[in-house]
Amino acid sequence: TGPLQAYLFADPAAHSLSPVMHRAAFRHAGLPGEYEARRVQPEDLPAALRGLRVPPACGANLSLPHKEAALALMDDLTPAARAIGAVNTVIRRGEDLIGENTDAPGLLDALAPLTGPDRGQAAVLGAGGAARAAVWALRRDGWAVTVVNRTLARAEALTAELGGTAVASADVPWENMALLVNASSAGLSRPDESPVTDEVVARLPAGAAVYDMVYRPAETRLLRQARAAGYRAENGLSMLAAQARLSFLAWTGADVPLHVFLNAARAALEPHAQG
Ligand code: NDP
Repeated sequence: TGPLQAYLFADPAAHSLSPVMHRAAFRHAGLPGEYEARRVQPEDLPAALRGLRVPPACGANLSLPHKEAALALMDDLTPAARAIGAVNTVIRRGEDLIGENTDAPGLLDALAPLTGPDRGQAAVLGAGGAARAAVWALRRDGWAVTVVNRTLARAEALTAELGGTAVASADVPWENMALLVNASSAGLSRPDESPVTDEVVARLPAGAAVYDMVYRPAETRLLRQARAAGYRAENGLSMLAAQARLSFLAWTGADVPLHVFLNAARAALEPHAQG
């Protein structure tokens, strides 16, 4: 077999950490392969996907704004992609394209070191694609999920479809939440912005875990408050690495350890650590 080719199709695509993670994985696995981030605009997605149907292409990651649009362009969808309504990974099987969602299992992999084996109540902040993946994954993993969103109607629409309970922030029993997952974009590129008030963080029970899908900046206001209060807390880099690992496994069959993806992503972020 010849070299493999994988892609990211997104707009913007320039600052993605996926190329460095997947190139490190190809090296670690000893596989000849290349990963290229391509800026693809919505009208060009069908043509970009057609190019995946023949070797050496093995698949692609999809990011903004293509995760939902790709659903209709796949030959088949995995149960996760279908239920969540978003494809972040395209896998070539023969000439067919399978739409998968590795954000959902990637989140569970990232949460495992924080939460341990017990399951209780979890609050998911946000109601976009990332929140949909989180709600689907957490419910299947045994959590009772409360969805909290700035626009309550969107949280209600999400729970009507995927289960869980939509609650306005003021009415959430925060002291019962063993897990808080930020799946909103609050805090993204804004170190002082938080999806919840500091008071909400203070009300979480002792031993709570806080996971922020945001990883730029590495420490959001939410994570800062959570750590100061003594909770276990982690940013979204581990989820990014975990979803990449699962995509790479689906494309190549090679189970590359998580730390290979995580170290590559961290090394790429380091030059920007001061800014
Ligand atoms: P969407 O644009 O689909 O959803 C954004 C959500 O954030 C909406 O629910 C929106 O609320 C809410 N929101 C935006 N700004 C604020 C704010 N200032 N205060 C409170 N809520 C706010 O984005 P995605 O679902 O695709 O992504 C969400 C986040 O998750 C992003 O930061 C993304 O980078 C991250 N992510 C990380 C991954 C990882 O691997 N670590 C994977 C996927 C996503 P409203 O409905 O009211 O507009």
